[in-house]
Amino acid sequence: MSSVLRKVILPDSELPQHWYNIVADLHHPPEAMYHPATGQPATPEQMGVIFPNEILRQEMSSERWIEIPDEVQDILKLWRPSPLYRAIVLEKALDTPAKIFYKWEGVSPAGSHKPNTAIPQAYYNKKEGTKRIATETGAGQWGSSLSLAGAMFGIEVKVYMVKVSYEQKPYRRMLMESWGGKVVASPSADTQAGRDALAKDPANQGSLGLAISEAVEDAAQRDDTKYALGSVLNHVCLHQTLIGLETKKQLEAFDETADIVVACHGGGSNFAGLAFPFVADNLTQGKKVRCLAVEPASCPSLTRGSYAFDYGDTAGLTPIMKMYTLGHDFMPPGIHAGGLRYHGASPLVSQLLKEGFIEARAVNQVPSFEAAVQFARTEGFLPAPESSHAIRAAIDEALECKKTGQKKTIVFNLSGHGHFDLSSYEKFFRGELQDYALSEAELKTSLAGLPNL
Ligand SMILES: *Cc1c(COP(=O)(O)O)cnc(C)c1O
Repeated sequence: MSSVLRKVILPDSELPQHWYNIVADLHHPPEAMYHPATGQPATPEQMGVIFPNEILRQEMSSERWIEIPDEVQDILKLWRPSPLYRAIVLEKALDTPAKIFYKWEGVSPAGSHKPNTAIPQAYYNKKEGTKRIATETGAGQWGSSLSLAGAMFGIEVKVYMVKVSYEQKPYRRMLMESWGGKVVASPSADTQAGRDALAKDPANQGSLGLAISEAVEDAAQRDDTKYALGSVLNHVCLHQTLIGLETKKQLEAFDETADIVVACHGGGSNFAGLAFPFVADNLTQGKKVRCLAVEPASCPSLTRGSYAFDYGDTAGLTPIMKMYTLGHDFMPPGIHAGGLRYHGASPLVSQLLKEGFIEARAVNQVPSFEAAVQFARTEGFLPAPESSHAIRAAIDEALECKKTGQKKTIVFNLSGHGHFDLSSYEKFFRGELQDYALSEAELKTSLAGLPNL
């Protein structure tokens, strides 16, 4: 019998009882958020119009460990703890001395890591009497996750879905509708932000920033409605840390410690989720685990953006946050990793990058799909196009080890499955996908729109 350990699955009893809050261990306190209209620090009362109190408390908290309510744990146990695999077939195909591990988040009902935060967000909303939640979605992963959570807690969910994805991914919309979500293509005629965008350009393909404007406007105008964000903010990164906390325990069972931790980067939460518990050791024990955030070359906020104050959305309705940003007017090309088309980045991830505790890299979509197909043909699971960016970087690191002979341990986050992304795979197989290089001129134009504080 083969003695190779292929995966580690933890029992329900090993589900972490607390989320890890990296704010407690930062060497400098995070920057404040500012009100978009007044330019003054945003007050909890102002933020309370769109967020429930407990979510705001977590957003501002510097407590190291935050307890996960029992009701939330019971739902998370549907798919958590999620498995950690050793990619032995991929390792062999690469002929690398490196060991490669992947944390498989595609086991959630919605097929990605996003329900890890959708469930607690819906729970806190329910507890505080919210009847309806408005949100945006790019590829449809967040909209489906929140629709799922809304179904579980009896909350109506309205989803503004970026138009390019609405058209490319009809099955994601149907999945949301199966869970009871109400979905419109963004820009829509349902909000002022949407109507303004359509008046300027009726063919507007939408962006995450614009869809956020629509959802925030919707929530701000109705007493029964709050807003929920699926990435970027501190409380979302917090909820995702289960990924890294479980991974650390699972690596122990493999008798391994991570040298390189890799995750793709859209708004930063799946990266934060896997990496922050490892970054903690860099911050507090002087360890040197390399934590690598991988973004698309077509939307390169971490590698080519400015570290500056900017709005979280296109219309300038959200608080102004210090982050790596391409400018809130940035319109990313219609690449197939819809979940990575965001102009900004998590302020926590941004600060850690600025302070040198993590690294960032940009990769193009064609090499990402090549990595995804190599992964599917060796390890079997079909990755989401977003996750494929992490696979590309993990494979490149393993190939680097082949050159140098180093036996590094590489862990990456397989953040979701690609079962709803088959039309993108089809385009890839037909050779119809292109790489996009953002020009210096385009970058300069979109950065010119940064607000003055
Ligand atoms: C949304 C999404 C991402 C991007 O996550 P962020 O937390 O915003 O960086 C990555 N992978 C999958 C499968 C997603 O659905």
